Amino acid sequence: MRFCVRCGADVENPIDGLCIECYLDGREFTSLPEYIDLEACAVCKEFYVGGKWVPDEKRRTIEDSAVDNMYILEDCRVLSIATRSKMQDPKTYKVNITTDLSVRGTPVTSESETVVRIKNTVCKRCSRVQGSYYESILQIRSEERTLDGDVVNDVIKKITRYVDFQSKNNRQYFISKTEKIHGGVDFYISSLALGKILAKMISDKYCGDSKESFKLVGRKPDGQNMYRVTYLVRLPRFKEGDVVIFKNGYYRLKRILPAGGRLVSLKDFRDKHVQRADMPLLKVYRTEDEFMEATVISGNPPEVQVLNPLTYETMDMKVSKDVEIGSQIKVIDIDGILHYVP
Ligand SMILES: [Zn+2]
Ligand SMILES: [Zn+2]
Repeated sequence: MRFCVRCGADVENPIDGLCIECYLDGREFTSLPEYIDLEACAVCKEFYVGGKWVPDEKRRTIEDSAVDNMYILEDCRVLSIATRSKMQDPKTYKVNITTDLSVRGTPVTSESETVVRIKNTVCKRCSRVQGSYYESILQIRSEERTLDGDVVNDVIKKITRYVDFQSKNNRQYFISKTEKIHGGVDFYISSLALGKILAKMISDKYCGDSKESFKLVGRKPDGQNMYRVTYLVRLPRFKEGDVVIFKNGYYRLKRILPAGGRLVSLKDFRDKHVQRADMPLLKVYRTEDEFMEATVISGNPPEVQVLNPLTYETMDMKVSKDVEIGSQIKVIDIDGILHYVP
């Protein structure tokens, strides 16, 4: 049997010559620096934690940063950590940490305290947004002289929605400026990659024609050339819903897909696929707002009688099988004869 060098008690396995009570007595098992500085972006309110900007909840980030800076004495096994924080002013928080530890099998509770100071700064993305930084320009134009206002708004909506969603995972993605100009719309885009993605997305969606041009704007510190890329997407005149002429036939353009278009014939209401390469052959015959409405009054689909909206006379018409008697249908005239629009 050995003795504790301080209190003289019998001890089987002394630690540095001490019994466990004397060893634990007056010892600090955890400690915190007096102050911890936490960087926060004054614009987007995100915190700089572990080398990156994160949109974390404020209190949790403050308390976590205190835990991350806590020093724990060797030989201690952490059993649990509890944190509390108290705001002293909007940029200063006092954080208390209660740590339950096991020191060589003996449970110990340790209290420590620090002050977390929030330092306002501007993150790289926000400073780029504020400085209207851009690496690529996406120009949306029409094959005609000007782009339809509805299409412009639709394109803006699609691009905004996509970038809002993607920027949650990629902080480098943003639009620094959207400019409606005569004939179309321009987007100033934060990265080359995002510009390319958006150009493809819009040209696929509308079956547009996309071209890119490079402009040397300088050199990076490592000597590599820096380019700005302009993506020019020209949208065709046709859009989904229009009645188009394709190889002398009349069709409703049902869907535009990356691989081409899905048409429905006005003659027999059968589907037809057109390859993307052949899409420029489509000519708009009537847009949706040019369709007329007619009431189906009798018959047996596909052979029915409708009220001619121009003459108010009853006329025969071939419709698709799902048309119901009494319903309103869309019609257009082709060479003076009314046709059902599927
Ligand atoms: Zn002792
Ligand atoms: Zn920011």
